[in-house]
Amino acid sequence: MRLPADRRTFILGLAGALACAPRLGLGASGRKEDSLRIDAQRLQRTLEQLSTFGRRAGGSFADGVSRIAYSDADIKGREYAVGLLREAGLEPKIDAAGNILAVRPGSDQSLKPILFGSHIDSVPSGGNFDGDLGSLSAIEVMHTLEDHSVRTRHPLEVTLWSNEEGGPFGSHIATEGPQPGDLERTFNGISLKEGLPRIGGDLARLDSARIAPGSIHCYLELHIEQGGILDKAGIPIGVVDGIVSIDEYAVEIRGIANHAGTTPMPERHNALLAAAKLIEAVQDEVTSFPGRQVGTVGQLTVSPNAPNVVPGLVRHSIELRDLSESTLVRMSAVIRERAAQIAHDTGTEISIKLVDHDPPALATPEVQRQIEAAAESLGLRTLHLPSGAGQDAQFLAKIGPMGMIFVPSVGGLSHTPKELTHWADCANGANVLLQTVLRMDRT
Ligand SMILES: [Zn+2]
Repeated sequence: MRLPADRRTFILGLAGALACAPRLGLGASGRKEDSLRIDAQRLQRTLEQLSTFGRRAGGSFADGVSRIAYSDADIKGREYAVGLLREAGLEPKIDAAGNILAVRPGSDQSLKPILFGSHIDSVPSGGNFDGDLGSLSAIEVMHTLEDHSVRTRHPLEVTLWSNEEGGPFGSHIATEGPQPGDLERTFNGISLKEGLPRIGGDLARLDSARIAPGSIHCYLELHIEQGGILDKAGIPIGVVDGIVSIDEYAVEIRGIANHAGTTPMPERHNALLAAAKLIEAVQDEVTSFPGRQVGTVGQLTVSPNAPNVVPGLVRHSIELRDLSESTLVRMSAVIRERAAQIAHDTGTEISIKLVDHDPPALATPEVQRQIEAAAESLGLRTLHLPSGAGQDAQFLAKIGPMGMIFVPSVGGLSHTPKELTHWADCANGANVLLQTVLRMDRT
């Protein structure tokens, strides 16, 4: 039977409404906030508009952005974000570290604020989602609460951290305060002294940007995964277990430089051959036990680096990352064992020195549970995973409870114009952020 078009629309509309009934009503709990949803079209529109600041002339959304901290594009992008915050009924302020902050008062003055946000600066030739999604979703959450006149108990505060990609600088200053050498720092060719005043910061008052430990209810951040785990698994929401610990080692391999024509093969002490074996050993050992740990040799220098000389000296890096520091220790121990064997086999000396250690920043289990519950209430499946990339959230974890929400990055691509998160996934992430804020408000 063919129905007239208007009747068909009515019946389809009715079926849709029935299918969605639990979401449109008051929900099982009877709370009006449970059915609150962000405006997905407005979120998409603002992400597309933000992408125009830092876009190459004549380019399109697909060309990504170069919105390096303190650049003209960064200044324009920040102005746009400030305007959006005002539209959401807020009065944004800029602290001495250049962070953009906007508070929405709660009904109970005695409660600590719930902070949420991200960053809007990018790497050179970056994508449209890294930082931008979390930042504009945070503003969208505020806008949604304003649209529906929902008053929370806790104050809510949007935090757009300055210079994440070059630093992180803004979140570092806010949580740790200025450290020796900070004032002399240069990011992507722009010195802090020159750059910070351009975005409204104040070098002389950096201490004033500090947030006291224990003074926040929690910090939440929505971010793209920047890896391919969620995309591959077909799961829309990641519950971040923490930001990984990073150990960086400097390796020095000493062989003997000698004539490439007159030194017989058995008598060589080839430092580069030893390096090649060690690089492969890193790969073997890191993948030899279960887990998400990663290991990378990304930098190498060869001396004398000539085609007709057996290499006498090689220096290279080894970088190991995992949520568990004990896994990193275990990995480094087996890599050292392999290095000793390689040194013996190649007649070289190998030294491996730890030059940098970043501890992990673990998410707070209670916040993770609320993220899971929020996703479940939206009918979205979740997966626990670590953040292999550094985040503003790892600094906020130093001063209070922290939780991060990940959404899929298509193909695991990030820090490239090809970075992509589907609009439906953006909206899902923003809705999980909104519902997590509301849930954390009740704790
Ligand atoms: Zn980011």
